[in-house]
Amino acid sequence: MISFVGAGPGNVDLITVKGRRLLEEADIVIYAGSLVSKEHLDFCKEESQLFNSASMTLEEVIETMEESVQNGLKVVRLHTGDPTIYGAIREQMDMLDEKGILYEVVPGVSSFTGACSSIKKEFTLPDVSQTIILTRIEGRTPVPEKEDLEKLAAHKASMAIFLSVQDIDRVVEKLVRGYKRDDVPVAVVYKATWEDEHIIIGNLGDIAEKVKSKGINKMAQILVGDFIEADYSRSKLYDPTFTHEYRRASK
Ligand code: SAH
Repeated sequence: MISFVGAGPGNVDLITVKGRRLLEEADIVIYAGSLVSKEHLDFCKEESQLFNSASMTLEEVIETMEESVQNGLKVVRLHTGDPTIYGAIREQMDMLDEKGILYEVVPGVSSFTGACSSIKKEFTLPDVSQTIILTRIEGRTPVPEKEDLEKLAAHKASMAIFLSVQDIDRVVEKLVRGYKRDDVPVAVVYKATWEDEHIIIGNLGDIAEKVKSKGINKMAQILVGDFIEADYSRSKLYDPTFTHEYRRASK
């Protein structure tokens, strides 16, 4: 059996209970070495075989999986955060499908929620935003034109921008054009939930300089929106004058 497992954003205890159990039982672990904390591997059996996928091609990963399954071994493919977001798992699953090899996908805590927890905010505030946009700027991987950052920013929803901090100037430029103001709050969270996590708070006007002066150019979430600072209305769910399925309004 092959299990694609989300390792969580960094802190080793932020993997799911199911993910940890699969790691403990795995004979073969193929981990995304550039982003997954090596501490996860301490939970593997001593005799388990570990492969760092950073130095492997897609074909080599699939070959390793196929051989292992043929030998009746349990395989964990360990991805950072949640595997369904920028995980490049679809191409692996499609190749396994072609070969008739079974697999499961175990979700994880994504770095966008990890980062928002680190700054102790909530993406979805009444009267501020009820929508979260997860996106990235184009780099070597293109982004469809209709999803250009400027167009997305025009919605003024809460945003979590992955894979983009190395291009912070361009990110800011597009966001300012989309939001049409430069005082929109921004939090850049480097290595959310890791021991060397670093948080930078600013706004579209000053965040680029702050990020560059700290030398941050990878492994960061750029969180953008008024949810970071603005006033909001109280939630209806806990409003004493509001009745819902589980609670009657107090008189
Ligand atoms: N599947 C992962 C994302 C992989 S893409 C997830 O769900 O989080 C890699 C990008 O994710 C990085 O460039 C960075 O933008 C973000 N990222 C991953 N781990 C992070 C962390 N601990 N803190 C901040 N950003 C992180």
